[in-house]
Amino acid sequence: MACSKDVVTLEMLFEWKRWPTKERVEGLQKFGLLAEHVACPKCGREMFLNVRNDVTDGYNWRCHNYKCMATQTLRKGTWFSQSKLSINTILEITYMWTRRFTQEQVRYETGTASHTVVNWFNFCREVCLHIMQEASEPVGGPGRIVQIDESLFGKRKYNKGKPRKCQQWVFGGVEADTNSCFLQTVKCRDAATLIPIIKEFIRPGSTIHSDCWKAYDRLGENGYTHLTVNHSVTFVEGDVHTNKIEGLWKHAKDRVPKTHRKQSMMDGYLAEFCYRRLRSGETCLFRAFLADAAKLYKPAQ
Ligand SMILES: [Zn+2]
Repeated sequence: MACSKDVVTLEMLFEWKRWPTKERVEGLQKFGLLAEHVACPKCGREMFLNVRNDVTDGYNWRCHNYKCMATQTLRKGTWFSQSKLSINTILEITYMWTRRFTQEQVRYETGTASHTVVNWFNFCREVCLHIMQEASEPVGGPGRIVQIDESLFGKRKYNKGKPRKCQQWVFGGVEADTNSCFLQTVKCRDAATLIPIIKEFIRPGSTIHSDCWKAYDRLGENGYTHLTVNHSVTFVEGDVHTNKIEGLWKHAKDRVPKTHRKQSMMDGYLAEFCYRRLRSGETCLFRAFLADAAKLYKPAQ
């Protein structure tokens, strides 16, 4: 049971269906999911919210200029654009994604076709990709420790059974104190591939802990303090640890479905994994996610 008035529950979400429509539109404007002001695409004058009983959303935008009278859908450029689903159903699916409902549960609860649910889960992961690539800060910094490592997803147990087609190397790092992380699929594990990723995702001046993989040999020349742990000897050597990144691999592998380990799908799942960690301190992930979706899907103004 939610303990804060800021936390949206499924019960509240279903309650929205009984809201007067104007109140619902204003609620979505506050989230940034719908525009508050729209300029007429034809004459440039401000448009107003117009009650329309013949459109699904109950409203559209209409130009103030009586000679123009141009109209525009509420949804243009928004999280709700180009979908035949009602805004309420899209919000329900989005809510259920943030609450980790399975695709089957969402299909059952909303009566939506399974391919539609698959699409919306993919759209949610695209928001995660955007936030992790564009809007999140690099990890580490002077005086901070970042553990890095590479791991093969889709590896066979004990090298038995048929070779898997869907094997994918992933490179990642985790800040020891904050657990902030980044994960990137990589085609190979050489220095030419990994060093640019390190420079993009880890602040200069960080202390980097890793194993003795040769691609990391020149980290010291790139503005980092580099300390290594020799895995063949012991997991933890002195004060140099890679336990956090080892734990990260375990959790990440649990979260990436074994049937979706092609690079194109994995990028989305890894971004979702990092995004949920990034937002783990939020009181209500649904509210936080809607605000993040509004950063990628900016309503037409
Ligand atoms: Zn106009």
